[in-house]
Amino acid sequence: MLKSILKRKALKRFATHPNQASAQTDLEAYPWHTLSVQEACQKLQTNLETGLTDEQINTHQQVYGSNALPTRKPPSLPGVILDQFKNPLIFILIIAALIAILVGEARDSLFIVAVIAINTIIGTTQEWKAEKSAQALQNLLQAYTHVRRNGLEQKVPFEALVPGDIVLLESGSRVPADIRLVKAGNLTSDESLLTGESVSVEKHIQPLPNPDLPISERTNMVFAGSFITTGRATGIVIATGLQTEVGKIAESLVTADVAKTPLLIRMEAFTRRIGLAVLGATAFLGIIAFFRGMNLVDSFFLAVALAVSAIPEGLPIAMTVALSIATKRMANRKVIIRQLAAVEGLGSCTYIVTDKTGTLTVNQQTVKLIALPSGDRFRVSEGKYLGEGEVTTEMRGGITEGDRKSLERLAKASAICNEGQLVYQVPEGTWKYHGDAVDVAILAFVYKLGLQPEEIRKVIDKVGEIPYESEHRYAATFYRENKTVKVAIKGALETILPFCQAMWSAQADTPIDRRHIEQLGQSLAEEGYRVLAIAEGVIQDQKEPGHYTQSDIRGLVLLGLICMIDPLRPEVKEAVIKCRQAGIHVAMVTGDHPATALAIARDLEIAERKEDLINGTQLNQVCLLETPECIETIKTARIFARVTPLQKLQIVKTLMDLGHFVAVTGDGVNDAPALKHANIGLAMGSGSDITKEVSSIIITDDNFATIEAGVEEGRFAYGNIRKVVWFLIANGFAEVALFMLAISIDLPLPLLPVQILWANLVTSGILNVGLAFEAGESVVMRQPPRKPTESVFNAPMLNQIIVSGGTMGLVCFGAWFWLLANGWEVESARNMTLLLLVLLEIFHIFNARSEYQSAFRIPIQNNPFLVFGVIAALGIHLLALHTPLLQGILGVSPVTLQEGLTAFLLASSVLIVTEIFKMVKRPAKSSQNNTAIP
Ligand code: ADP
Ligand code: MG
Repeated sequence: MLKSILKRKALKRFATHPNQASAQTDLEAYPWHTLSVQEACQKLQTNLETGLTDEQINTHQQVYGSNALPTRKPPSLPGVILDQFKNPLIFILIIAALIAILVGEARDSLFIVAVIAINTIIGTTQEWKAEKSAQALQNLLQAYTHVRRNGLEQKVPFEALVPGDIVLLESGSRVPADIRLVKAGNLTSDESLLTGESVSVEKHIQPLPNPDLPISERTNMVFAGSFITTGRATGIVIATGLQTEVGKIAESLVTADVAKTPLLIRMEAFTRRIGLAVLGATAFLGIIAFFRGMNLVDSFFLAVALAVSAIPEGLPIAMTVALSIATKRMANRKVIIRQLAAVEGLGSCTYIVTDKTGTLTVNQQTVKLIALPSGDRFRVSEGKYLGEGEVTTEMRGGITEGDRKSLERLAKASAICNEGQLVYQVPEGTWKYHGDAVDVAILAFVYKLGLQPEEIRKVIDKVGEIPYESEHRYAATFYRENKTVKVAIKGALETILPFCQAMWSAQADTPIDRRHIEQLGQSLAEEGYRVLAIAEGVIQDQKEPGHYTQSDIRGLVLLGLICMIDPLRPEVKEAVIKCRQAGIHVAMVTGDHPATALAIARDLEIAERKEDLINGTQLNQVCLLETPECIETIKTARIFARVTPLQKLQIVKTLMDLGHFVAVTGDGVNDAPALKHANIGLAMGSGSDITKEVSSIIITDDNFATIEAGVEEGRFAYGNIRKVVWFLIANGFAEVALFMLAISIDLPLPLLPVQILWANLVTSGILNVGLAFEAGESVVMRQPPRKPTESVFNAPMLNQIIVSGGTMGLVCFGAWFWLLANGWEVESARNMTLLLLVLLEIFHIFNARSEYQSAFRIPIQNNPFLVFGVIAALGIHLLALHTPLLQGILGVSPVTLQEGLTAFLLASSVLIVTEIFKMVKRPAKSSQNNTAIP
C-alpha cells in the first residue's frame, strides 16, 4: 500500500516533464527478466563488449536524469537560527525581556534582546559551519562503480550511470542501479533492504518466463541498494535513480537526523540537569533577596542572571564545534568519519585489530621467486607491474630446456586462473594494470618469462570459475581445451595440496611428496614470502558451462610455488610504537601463512615470539566452546594467521567481552560482520562497498599509520572538549561563589543582572569558541586510553574547576569587599568588579589551553582563533566602558590607567594559582603515565 502510494507520487513527479515521462515509465514497466541477454542489449541499444558511447551516455542522461536518490535535506540557515531558540535558557531570557518591558525597563529589555541576538549569531555561525563541513564530508563518501564504456573499463560515480551502461560487479560491491545480469559466476546478492529477507539470493542469467514475478524471484536481475555477497557479475543497467525498485520506496528510506554522539548526549543531559539544579538554587537566592527587601522584579532578574551564569549553555554547541573541527582535521589526515560518535570513540579505543596486506604492507606484490616441486628455485627480476624483465637461476648451467617447459606450464596455468589485467599501451608507452595485486604481479612474471598472458587467455574456452574470495584462499578457472575440460587453480599451499595427487617433477607427473612440499612452503614463508601454489588437472565429469564447483576438482598436478614480496609500509613501525605508548594493543589478523605473518610482525614489533602467534586451526580447537582457555588464548595472542572472517568476528567479540574498546579493520565482504560488531569498524578506502557501509570510519589510504593519526585526533578532540568544559564551568562557579559569599555576609549584590549577562553571554561566549580550535597536545598520546564511559567531570576536572573557579570567585569577592570597605560608591565598585571578572576570564582562557602543561609552553600562534577571541572580548568590553549607550545600560564607566592596571594584575592571580596547581599535580600525573598497560 505504502509502496504503491509512493510509486504514484514518484510517477507524478516525472509526469511534469512530458518528454521524460513516456521513456521512463516505458523502461520501468518492462519485464526485463523475461528477455534474453541479446534482447535486453538490443532494447537498450547497448553493446556488451564495448558498452555505451559518449554520445549515447549524453542522450540517456538527458532522458533519464542522474542515478541519484533523494538524500537527507540539509538544514536551511533559518532552520539553524531557529534551532538556537530551542534552548530553555533563551526562553527564560525572552520572558525576562517581556517582564522588563512590562515594568517599564525598556532599556534592560533591549539589552536582553541584544544579548540573545549576539548569542544567536555566535551559535548560528558555529552550527552552520559544522553543518557545512558535514556536507563536505558527504562528498568524500562518494561511491564509485566499474563500467564498460567506449570499449574501456573505467570507474564512474554512481550518479553518472545511465540505463544501458554495462556494469561490472564483484563480491562486496553495492549494486548501483537495477541491473539485468548478462554474466554471473557464483553470484549471490543480499537484498534485505528491498525484500526484508536476510538470506542471500542466488543469481544466474537465464530468462524467466513469468512477467509478473515478485522482485525477490527475479533471479537474473540485481537491484539498487543490495550488495553482492559472492562472485562476479556483468550486467546492463535497466533503471536508475527513482525508477529503480528502491527509488520507488526511497522517500521512506531517507534517514532522518544525524545521530548525536554519546558524549554529546551525555553533555546535553548534564547541561539540562545542571540547568534545573541552578534554576532551583537561583530561585531560592532570589527569594532570599526578596525577603531581604529587594523588590520582586529585581529579585527575579537576579535569579535569571545567576541562572544564565551558572548554566553552561554554550557547552553542547562548543562540543559540536569541537567534533566537527575534529572530523575536518581527520579528513585532512585521510580518516573519513561516517558516524560522529567515532571521533571520540577512536580516541578511547584500547585495541586495534588490523589486517596485514594493504594496511601494514603497501599491497604492491612482486613475484620474486619461483620454486618448482623439485625444489629448484628461479629468480624473477624486479620491476613491479611491468611486463619487462627476466627469469634467471643461480644453478649451474642456467635454465635448461626442461626447466623452461616446467616454468611455462606453471605460468600458463597462473595466467588462466587470473582476474587481473596487465597490458602495454602502445600510444602512452606504459603498462596499464587492473585488478587484484596478486593477480597483476603474476601476470608481470608471465611476461618476464617471455609469454603473452592475453594470448594464452584468448585461445582458451572458459567454462566456469571459482573467483578468489579470501575465506576460500584459492581461485579456480575451468576451461575447455580440445575435447577435455581442465582446471587451473592457485591459492594457499594448504588449500591446494589436498586437491593434488601428483607433482610436476623431472619432466613428468610423479606421485606427490606432501612432506617435502610442505617443508618447501614452510621454509619459503619463513623467509617472509607470500607463497601461492599453482596446480592444474583434468575434469572427469563434463557439465554445462557455469555448473562446475569445488567438488569437481580432484587429482590435480602441482606445478610449483610462486613467492611474492609485499614491502612493509615504512611509517607503520613508528605508528605501532606510538600506539603502545598510548596504551593501545595492536594485533594482526591475516589469512596469510603463519610464518609470513610472524616475519612481518617481528619487523613491525607487533610481536616477537612464536607464542604470540596462533593459527586458525588451533584457534578452532581451543575455541570450540567459549572456555576460559579460549578467552586466554585470544587475550594473549598478537598474531592470528590463516583465520577466517568468522574467527575474526569471534576475536573481536571476545576482546570486547574482556572490556576492550575494539577498533577493527577490514576490506572484504566477509569482514562486514566483524566491522559491524566492533566498537569501531575501520573500512579500507580500497575495500568493498559493503565494508564501508557498515563501518564508522573509512581509512582512505588503507594505512595503519593513518589509524594512529585518527586516534591522535580523536584524543585531541576529547581534550579540547574538556578544555571548554573547564573554562565554562569554572566561570559559572566563580560567579555563583561571588554571589553566595556576598549574600552570606550581607553585602550588596556585586554585579547587576545585566552585567552578569554581559560577562557570560558576550565576553565569555566570544572567548570559549577559540578553545575548540586548540591544536591538541602530543602528551595525550603518552597516556593510557580513557574509559569510554569516563565522565568529563572526573576528579582532575573537578579539582581544576574548584581551584581556578574558586580563585576567580575569591578574587572578585575580595575586591568587592575591599572597594566597599574603602568607601567606593556601589556603582563604581560594580564597574571595577565587572572589569576584574572579564579580565579573569581572559587570563583563565590561557589556563584552559592545557590541563597538563604550563600556559606559557603552548605556542600562542597555534591558535589564532583564541588570540582573536581575546582581542575581541577585551575590545568589546573597553568599547562598552566608553560608549554612552552601553555605559547607561551596563552601568559602567571608564577606569583610570592605574585602576585598569591594578585589575589586570589582580586578574593574573588565576593564571599564577593555576600554574602552581599544574606544577604540583604534574609529578603525580607522570607517574600515572608509566603504569603498565592492562
Ligand atoms: P591477508 O590477510 O594478508 O590479506 P589474504 O586473505 O588476502 O591475506 O590471503 C590469504 C591467502 O589467500 C594468501 O596467503 C594466498 O595464499 C591466498 N591468496 C591471496 N590472494 C589470492 C589470489 N588472488 N588468488 C588466489 N589465492 C590468493
Ligand atoms: Mg587480503
